[in-house]
Amino acid sequence: MNLKTARETFPAIYAGIKSQSPPHHFEFKDPFWVLITTIMSHRTKDEVTDVAARNLYNRYADATGLSQAKYEDVYGLISRVGFATVKARRVIDAAAIIRDRYGGKVPDTVEELTVIPGVGRKTANVVLADALGKPAIAVDTHVHRISNRIGWSNSKNPDETEQDLRKIVPVEYWLGFNPILVEFGKKICRPIGPKCSECLVSSYCRYFRESQEKQNVKPADKTIKRAKK
Ligand code: SF4
Repeated sequence: MNLKTARETFPAIYAGIKSQSPPHHFEFKDPFWVLITTIMSHRTKDEVTDVAARNLYNRYADATGLSQAKYEDVYGLISRVGFATVKARRVIDAAAIIRDRYGGKVPDTVEELTVIPGVGRKTANVVLADALGKPAIAVDTHVHRISNRIGWSNSKNPDETEQDLRKIVPVEYWLGFNPILVEFGKKICRPIGPKCSECLVSSYCRYFRESQEKQNVKPADKTIKRAKK
């Protein structure tokens, strides 16, 4: 898909995706708790992340409280999230950095946020868009995969995909873009076995078109091979 076509068709594609994927919203809107929730959310079901974040909030309330927490206590409260042993340390360290380096206030730039261990561009962009209302496109594995299947991008890594999306997605769509695509990626455009037959945007999708072409080509190939024998 060239840039002009991608821009022209984006609103229709996005509307189709959105209609199939009401986004999940984590409980907290406070930037610090959005940050902590997002750090914990990687490779973890939303409902498990929700419970873990609520457990921490109920016990520690803010960055100062969490920064002074004992590792064993934090681990006990978040033990069901993926990689809990690592994330327990990371959320305590993140709280300490927010308290000591940023005076208890979550910074509002990718550069400042990515100083925190465990915070990459994706997490930083989630915090900027979801908690601070700043236009940002968070590209996780779902957004990366879907964008490359549809044809918005042709890249090997999420950072490149983010750069491609920034050229295509009008800025007024940036807020809310990630949660909608994440949900679409879980329900329809799944990593393995995407439900293309149910997908409302298949007519725009490069992956779908190419898979249809392969299916159509196969019988002809066989016929050709048979004819050559
Ligand atoms: S047609 Fe299939 S691959 Fe393309 S966006 Fe829809 S589910 Fe994903």
